[in-house]
Amino acid sequence: MHVIDATIVGAGPAGVGMAVAANAIDGFEVSLIDAGQIGQTFHDWHPEQRFLTPSFTGNGFGATDLNSVHPSTSPAFTLGVDYPDGPGYARYLRSLVSHFRVPVAEDTRVQRITPTDDGFEIETDRGRGRSRTLIWAGGERSEPRLPGIRGEHLLTHSSHTDAWAERSGRLAVIGGAESGIEIACHHVERGAEVSVIDAERPWGHGVDGDRQADPSFGLAPRTRIRMRAALETGRLELRDASATAVVRHGTGFRVSTSRGPAVLSETPPIAATGYGPGLGPASELFDRRDDGWPLLTEHDESTVTPGLFLTGPALRHDDERFCFVYKYRQRFAHVARVIGERAGRDCSALDLWREQGMLLDDLSCCGTSCAC
Ligand SMILES: Cc1cc2nc3c(=O)[nH]c(=O)nc-3n(C[C@H](O)[C@H](O)[C@H](O)COP(=O)(O)OP(=O)(O)OC[C@H]3O[C@@H](n4cnc5c(N)ncnc54)[C@H](O)[C@@H]3O)c2cc1C
Repeated sequence: MHVIDATIVGAGPAGVGMAVAANAIDGFEVSLIDAGQIGQTFHDWHPEQRFLTPSFTGNGFGATDLNSVHPSTSPAFTLGVDYPDGPGYARYLRSLVSHFRVPVAEDTRVQRITPTDDGFEIETDRGRGRSRTLIWAGGERSEPRLPGIRGEHLLTHSSHTDAWAERSGRLAVIGGAESGIEIACHHVERGAEVSVIDAERPWGHGVDGDRQADPSFGLAPRTRIRMRAALETGRLELRDASATAVVRHGTGFRVSTSRGPAVLSETPPIAATGYGPGLGPASELFDRRDDGWPLLTEHDESTVTPGLFLTGPALRHDDERFCFVYKYRQRFAHVARVIGERAGRDCSALDLWREQGMLLDDLSCCGTSCAC
C-alpha cells in the first residue's frame, strides 16, 4: 500500500494550519482527514457564540491576525468582521484548504491508529491508509469533563445544546472560567437568576490587583464587559466555593457547596468544567504527565510513539498552555520542519512563518508578562 508523508487528523484551526504548513514543504504528500466537515466544531457553536480574541489584518506590519492559522491570511480580511462567529470561521478554514490545495477527506472518522515499521496504518470508517507521520489535531470537544462530584450525571455540560436552551428562574453553573461566565451571561440576559460556583475565582484573575497576565488563565476583555453588565442586573451571583454534590430537590436540583448555603437550580445545573485532551484513537499512543495531559518531546512528538505528533489546545510544555489559536499556531512550522527534515526535504518555504512571527521553536522563551 502507498505510504504518504503526513496525515493530519482533524480539520479545525489546528489541523488546517498544520496541514497548510506541511503541504508547503517541497514535494511533501499530505492528507487532512475529518469526521465531519472542515471546521466542524465551529459549525456546532451556538449562533450567539463569537471568537473572544479580535481579528484584525495587521499582517503587513508583522502583527498577523490573532485568529489566523497561516501567516499571509486573516479572518478579518476574509470575513470582514472582528469577532468571527462559528460558521464564518469555518468558511475561513475552508478557504485555506482550497487556496493552498490541501488534499482533504471529509466525513471520514479515524477509528484506529496502528504503528508499523514505516509509520502508521490508519483505519477509518471509509477504508485504510498508510502514513509515515501522523499529527493528531482532533480537538478537545470530544472529551467534555464533569467536575467529579456526587450526582454529576444530573449536570448538563456547557458544550451540549441543552445548556443553551431557554431557562427560567434560578440556575446553577459550576465553573467560572470563560465558558461558565459566557453561558451564565447568556441566561442572565434572558431573565434567569444565575449563580456561578468556583473556588478558584477565575473571573477575578488578572483584575482586582491579581497580576496574572496570561489570557489562558483569566477572562477575555469581551467576557469581562459582558459579566459587568450581567452583575449590574443583580441576577448574577459569583460564588467563591466548590460544588460538592448535586441532588434532585422537588421539581428542581440542589447543588451543595463548600462554603455558604446550597444553590438551588430549577432546571439541570450546567457544568462548565472544560475538556480533556480528546486524543480519541491516539490516546494509548501517548504517555501522560502527572496532571493527565499528554507528555511530549520538545518537538510536540509523543514520547512513546515516534512519528506521532500533537497540535492544538491540548499542547502543554511545563506550565505553558497553548490553548489559544495564536499560541498553538506558533508550533505548526516547527513540527512541519522536523518532519520535513527527517524525510530529507527542502523546508525553506517554512521561512515565511518565521518572518511573520508565527514560529516558536525555543520553548524556553514563552510566558506572558505585562508591565501594566
Ligand atoms: C465560544 C468559543 C469562543 C472561542 N474563542 C476563541 C478565541 O477567541 N481565540 C482562540 O484562540 N480560541 C477560541 N476558542 C477555542 C477554539 O475554538 C479552539 O482552540 C479550537 O476550536 C481548537 O481547534 P482544534 O483544531 O484543536 O479543534 P477543533 O476545532 O475541535 O477541531 C477538531 C476536529 O477534529 C475532528 N475529529 C475529532 N476526532 C476525529 C476522528 N477520530 N477522526 C477524524 N476527525 C476527527 C472533529 O470533527 C473536528 O473538526 C473558542 C471556543 C469557543 C467555544
